Amino acid sequence: MLCGILCVVMVLLAGLLLDGSAQMRGSLGWVTHSSQVLKTANRTLGHLQEAESGQRGYVLTRNPEFAETVAAEIAAAKHDAAALVKLTADNPPQNERAQQVRALVTERAASLEKSAAMTRAGDFAGAQASTATGRGRYLMLMVEARVGDLLAEERSLSVERMGAVERRLNYIRWLVLLGTPLTVAIIVIMGVALIRGIRRPVEAMMTVMGKLGAGDRSARIDVEMRSSEFERLAGGYNEMARELEAAVADQVDSEGRLKIANQELSANAQVLRERGEVIELLGGMAHRMQAARTDEELASIIRVFVPRVLPDIPGALYAHNNSRNLLVPIAAWGGLEVEQAGFAPDQCWALRRGQSHYVTEQGSDIVCAHVGAEADHYHCEPLLAGGEVIGVLYLRGVVGAENRFRLTVLTENIASALVNHRLQRGLREQTIRDPLTSLFNRRYMEETLALEIARATRTGSPLSLVMCDVDHFKRFNDEFGHEAGDAVLQAVATEMRSRFRDGDVVCRFGGEEFTIIAPGTSAVVLADRVEIVRQAISELMVNQGGRTLGSTTMSFGVATWEESMERDGSTLIKAADAALYRAKREGRNRVVLDARAEALSA
Ligand code: GH3
Ligand code: MG
Ligand code: MG
Repeated sequence: MLCGILCVVMVLLAGLLLDGSAQMRGSLGWVTHSSQVLKTANRTLGHLQEAESGQRGYVLTRNPEFAETVAAEIAAAKHDAAALVKLTADNPPQNERAQQVRALVTERAASLEKSAAMTRAGDFAGAQASTATGRGRYLMLMVEARVGDLLAEERSLSVERMGAVERRLNYIRWLVLLGTPLTVAIIVIMGVALIRGIRRPVEAMMTVMGKLGAGDRSARIDVEMRSSEFERLAGGYNEMARELEAAVADQVDSEGRLKIANQELSANAQVLRERGEVIELLGGMAHRMQAARTDEELASIIRVFVPRVLPDIPGALYAHNNSRNLLVPIAAWGGLEVEQAGFAPDQCWALRRGQSHYVTEQGSDIVCAHVGAEADHYHCEPLLAGGEVIGVLYLRGVVGAENRFRLTVLTENIASALVNHRLQRGLREQTIRDPLTSLFNRRYMEETLALEIARATRTGSPLSLVMCDVDHFKRFNDEFGHEAGDAVLQAVATEMRSRFRDGDVVCRFGGEEFTIIAPGTSAVVLADRVEIVRQAISELMVNQGGRTLGSTTMSFGVATWEESMERDGSTLIKAADAALYRAKREGRNRVVLDARAEALSA
């Protein structure tokens, strides 16, 4: 806008100056014109006066040189008068005067020429008379008067024209005087406005860029720029800032996702590590359980390992006893007291349903009968193998989600360990038991005897051995068949097992011979018990296949271990066998003590 104003002012000034100078030139032209008119008028008058004075001199002197002057001056006066008429053509009143001057000059020139001609012809008197007439004087005065009018008029015109020139000059001076500061002021205003116009957007952009540098990515240029270039620049900058913000947001977003993924990964790694530890722990437990020989060993292992796998949760492990169909406690931990009598499978919802059963708070689920109504939170995990109930893991506490994996692996391990233990026990039973009578076999007897001899030697406590044999057993076989013989053997074995003490080891030595290892007893003391057993067997009536096989008797030989005997038990067996042999010889159905034992008791 200011630019526009400046241009208009400049154009206006230039126009006015041009116009001023043009008018000035015009005025000056008029002044020059006036001076020409003045000069020409004066010259006309001058030439005429020269002609007149020349004529007068010619007449007086009759010198022909004057005649030439008169003719030249007249011609010049005429020429100037004609020029005067031409010069004043633009000004009718002056032209009028100029024509009058020319007419008067022409008339005066004619009279002078006439006089000059008379003089040349020698008519001096005529020429003198012509000159002396007042007409010539009158014409001269008239010319002077007309020229004087014309000059006066032209001078006043000239003064007027000079005044116009002065006015023009003043006008131009004022134009210059006013136009120059105005132009300078406009240029200064324009400069200030331009600087302001640049400074504002530049400052706004610098401020926003500073904010961006300081980390404020949402900063935008929203100031009115008043300039399309700055607006484009600000728009471009804003677009760039927006893209930067989006890119940073993207980066932050992906960093966040990466962080979460990392956390998940490390959490997963933690879970995997924990699971690895649990599996290692349970592997150790399973390995020990496999090697366990007795139920007590198994219970010890469970008491040690289960609290390590499921810390801070008291509990108990129940194993299923098939013959009694009862869940019997085999181990408890964490200070939990359990009913030794156990419970029936249908008292546990976990066993009934074949899946985990738990109560997390009072009333959240039905409470198992074996737990007792007072329990408000517990967990029963069934131990199953091939659909068969192996046992149940009872926990007095809530098993959280983080412990589910531990519980699952633990129950699988315990179930398979219990099955394994049961199988091993069966196998072991098979290797140490006689299948017909379920008594210990000869191998077991020999091993046990060697162990007991070692213990007796160490402790100094007595150790006795009984060898016994069914009398005339062959007859049963012969009379009733082999199966009847087996039945007799089973009946006799059952009787002996129930009649001897718990610590005594009753074994089938082979055929219808039996051996009893009796630790802590001398032969003499043992003889009384053997006597009772002999009596009971002799009164035994054996039935088989719905028939009565009749009664049977047995002969017994009893011996006590001595330091002098072999440590492997062979001497002791021989001593007891010798006593048995004697019992047979002495008529069977009796108890005979080894000679040394008899000697000792005597
Ligand atoms: P003695 O009073 O002298 O001991 O006479 P005995 O008939 O009992 O003695 P003998 O050694 O002559 O006979 C033992 C028989 O026992 C021989 C064998 O056929 C039989 N026998 C050995 N083992 C078994 C068994 O497991 N079942 C049956 N049914 N018979 C057996
Ligand atoms: Mg025999
Ligand atoms: Mg016999």
